[in-house]
Amino acid sequence: MEYKNILTTCPFCGVGCGLNLQVLDGKVVGVLPAKTHPLSRGSLCVKGWNAHAFIYHKDRLTQPLVRRNGKLVETSWDEALDLVAHRLSESKAQSGPDSIAFLSSAKATNEENYLLQKFARAVIGTNNIDHCARL
Ligand code: SF4
Repeated sequence: MEYKNILTTCPFCGVGCGLNLQVLDGKVVGVLPAKTHPLSRGSLCVKGWNAHAFIYHKDRLTQPLVRRNGKLVETSWDEALDLVAHRLSESKAQSGPDSIAFLSSAKATNEENYLLQKFARAVIGTNNIDHCARL
């Protein structure tokens, strides 16, 4: 039997509490608060305590979906990302960078949100970037 704790960030809100995923034989089986995390200091709300519950849920999407003939079908990450890159380039070329907008999420980490605004501004060239916490 192999057991380990993996330190990560709670995915449920912008507070970003630290938690340890309890991994038993390669499977996440629970959550423990991270005592040394500078923000949460060993505390979690009920969502954080259950942050592992969705990982193996049968309804969880684990593959990207693309619409083909009006139906969503599974595809590979390479194909999905190529399609997104192609469509973003096409829109930018045809209608300019401000034809594109990005909406980020409190369920992403601060670092991921930073990267999305950087991508919007530096790669696409638009300031059309917002965040669900402002909705
Ligand atoms: S434990 Fe609760 S307060 Fe902390 S990040 Fe998760 S959802 Fe937010």
